[in-house]
This record gives sequence, C-alpha cells and structure tokens, in this order.
Amino acid sequence: MSVRVRIAPSPTGNLHIGTARTAVFNWLYAKNNGGTFILRIEDTDLERSKPEFTQNILDGLKWLGLNWDEGPVFQTDRTDLYQAKIQELLDKGLVYRAYDLPEELETMRARQKARNEAPRYDNRHRNLTPDQIAAFEAEGRPAVIRFKIEDDREIIWTDLVRGNVSWKGRDLGGDMVIARAADASTIGAPLYNFVVVVDDIDMGISQVIRGEDHIANTPKQILLYEALGATVPTFGHTPLILNEKGAKLSKRDGVTSIFDFQKMGYLPEAIANYMSLLGWSPIEGMNEIFSLEEAGKVFSFDRVNKAGAKFDWDKLNWINGQYLHAMPVPQLTDLLIPYWQEAGYVFDAVNDRLWLEQLVAVIGASLAKLTDAVEMSAYLFNPTVMPTDEALKQLGLDGVTGALTAVLAAIPAEPLTEESAKEIINLVVKENGVKKGLVMKSLRAGLTGSLHGPDLIQSWLLLNAKGWDKTRLAGAIA
Ligand code: GLU
Repeated sequence: MSVRVRIAPSPTGNLHIGTARTAVFNWLYAKNNGGTFILRIEDTDLERSKPEFTQNILDGLKWLGLNWDEGPVFQTDRTDLYQAKIQELLDKGLVYRAYDLPEELETMRARQKARNEAPRYDNRHRNLTPDQIAAFEAEGRPAVIRFKIEDDREIIWTDLVRGNVSWKGRDLGGDMVIARAADASTIGAPLYNFVVVVDDIDMGISQVIRGEDHIANTPKQILLYEALGATVPTFGHTPLILNEKGAKLSKRDGVTSIFDFQKMGYLPEAIANYMSLLGWSPIEGMNEIFSLEEAGKVFSFDRVNKAGAKFDWDKLNWINGQYLHAMPVPQLTDLLIPYWQEAGYVFDAVNDRLWLEQLVAVIGASLAKLTDAVEMSAYLFNPTVMPTDEALKQLGLDGVTGALTAVLAAIPAEPLTEESAKEIINLVVKENGVKKGLVMKSLRAGLTGSLHGPDLIQSWLLLNAKGWDKTRLAGAIA
C-alpha cells in the first residue's frame, strides 16, 4: 500500500514549533517511503480560525522546506461530505440525537464529582422513545449527535512510536458528540474527531503521525473507522517538545510562531535539522548536521523516542552556527543585510557591498545566530564610537597617547593593507620603545571603543576603508 501521510494544522494560531516538528516527521516518513505528504487545514472552528493564521502556517511550512505534494485541503469546503457520513451512521443506528440541556449535563457531572467518579456522559438519551423525542423537539431543545461507545469494548493498536496501546471503552467519556446544534431534521456542525476520520479515510491516509497530545483521540477515532466500514490506518504519536523545566513548550517559552525563530536569527535549514533531532536519533555514524533530504533517506520510527524531547537552545545555537560558518560570504551577507537595516545602521547595500562582505568574512565564524552580527558589528557603522570605561582606562595609561599619535601619523593616504597595518604597529613599538601588547590593546580601545571584539587588524582595515580610523584615533588622543 502506498504511503500517504498528512499534517493537519488548525488555523487558530500561528505555525507552532510542535506542529512544525510533526510536519517534519511526516515529511521525512513520506520521503523515506516514496510516499505523499498532504496538507489539510482543519478550520472547522469558525470562531477561532483566521485566514492570517492559515497564511502563517503555509508560509512557515514553505520557509522550512516542508513542501507538500497535495493540498491544502480546507475542511470548511467539505461539510456536505461530513454530513452525508453522519447520515450514514444515523441510518445504521450507530449515532443518535441527544437533547440534554447544558444545566442537565452540569448536574450530572456535579453528581459524578461528588461520587469521585471521572466525568462522563451517562448515555441517558441513547434509547429515547419516539414520544420522548417528540416532547423534546416540541420544547425546542437543540440536539447534538452522539456516537455510541460500548463500555466493554477494548481498543488496541500498535503505535509506530509507543508499541501496543490499549484503551477501554468505558474510559472514553461515554457516547461521544460528533456534531452540534442539530434538530430532528438537520445535522449541524460536525466536530473534530469525526471530521478527522472522514478526511483521513477520504484522502487515503495510511499512517496518522501526530503529536502525543492526540493519543486520547485515537481510540475514539478507531471506533469511528469501524463504524464507517473503513480500514484503520497505522498511528504514530510523536513525543512532546518540552522546555528546560520538563513542561510542554509553550508561548511562555518565547516562541509562538516558527517565524519567531527567523526574528531571533535562525536559518530554516538549521531549524528543520534541529527539529528532526527532537525525538529522533540519526543512524550510527551519521553527522548531526544534515538536510531534510539526507534525513529522509534514513528516517524510521525505530529511532524515535517515546519520552518527551527537551528543547535545548544551546544545541540549536550550535547547529545554526554550523550552517552559518559553512555559508559562502556573499550568501551570508545577503542574509545579514536586513538585520543591519532593521537595527537602523546606515549603509548603502549596493555601494558598500564589498565592504559588507569584508565585514562578514571577519565576523562570520563567530556567529551562532544572524542577530549576533548586529551587536558584533555595531562599532563599525559610525565614524565615531563611544568607548567603554575599560577602554577609556586603557587610553589613559602612560605611553598610550604617544603610541597612538605615532600610529595616526603613519597611516598612509592610500588604503591600508594587512601588511602595512602590521608594519605600522611594529614601527611604533620600536620607535616609541613600548610593548607590542600595549600598542595592540590601545589601538583596539581607540579604534573600536572596546577591549574585546573581532580581529583587530581586520577591524582596522574596515574602518580605514571608510576613513574612520583617523577620526577615531584623533578623538582618542585629543
Ligand atoms: N488539527 C489538529 C491540531 O492542529 C491535528 C489533528 C490530527 O493530526 O489528527 O492539533
């Protein structure tokens, strides 16, 4: 049987890291099996679903390189199909209309609570007589449609991740609502567990791979497959992504949308790479830095963990750094320009291109995130720089003014080269009788306003190209 898998996000929020990781596993599984990866937008919750969230999800999946083969299919386009399927179940007597009022259900639950029982529907409207139904209809009560779940049923499946899983019918909360706001002749809005099953059958889904938070839906859905006379697919419940404290990663951890990672300076390739490692371990001997294509060649559920996967920012930073360090300078420059622009740095992306590439060549190897470049290169985007206290102290040491005056005097009119810069330093050491360390440290303080930072000679060359080395040294010795 051909492999057909799907990612089925609800557009009630931006593309979340958990959904994106589930998409990664589906994508990798499809690749590994020469299968089809399908996108379905589960927008049946009309109040909470928003087109801008759908857009964010589509853009986010594309950004990560998770291209889909079919879809997007929108559930709101398929209400007729769902209603026809509910009618089929009504005809087979597997579902029924229940007329309970909210306050009646509340009283029922309060009684269960008082008896220390788990909340469940007690199936009180399962066998209403025609007279009772007529009376409820005459009262104008709205109905819901409930699917019969037998208490003594045992539902067992072999999960791709968790192995054998079994549930008892009696633990599923009683007969399940599959559609709301129906009356004697209409069906009303079909609900999540039902439409997922109808769609997965209709789309020929062979493996349902989704987050572990859906595991309690699976036994209910298996019963619906049976009721609809369909083959039950294979299920795989992927481990949750946890924060550093071991709780489910949530908005409070600072990431609500996959694009938050972009804002933080991460590359899509690095995020996709890291997400593959959240719960899956690569085969023996495989490098931890890999593309989705490479992972797809070897991905299998044998190497997916049951336990929750801790989100490790240090590891993500390391992976992102690996991608940044391997990237050709022109490409990295293209990516950094928007971050410098966003920071308000003044430069001409066209005329300063060579200078920007030189800058990238200097700082590229120290970056873990694209945003690191903003702070790291802040000292290079202005004619002058505000020295730190440490740098000021350095500039006040004995012999420093003399040494920097000599450096300033030795800067040639033509552009400085690495060799000429080094020669100037050696000359000043010799002629002023000062230590090389003192000259280097003071030069760094005078040129960059700090005692720490990227390579001194390269920074000097960058400032020299703008003529700002002279301005700054003149300021430092004034
Ligand atoms: N729409 C569900 C969600 O966004 C996914 C349902 C499923 O994968 O079966 O969590």
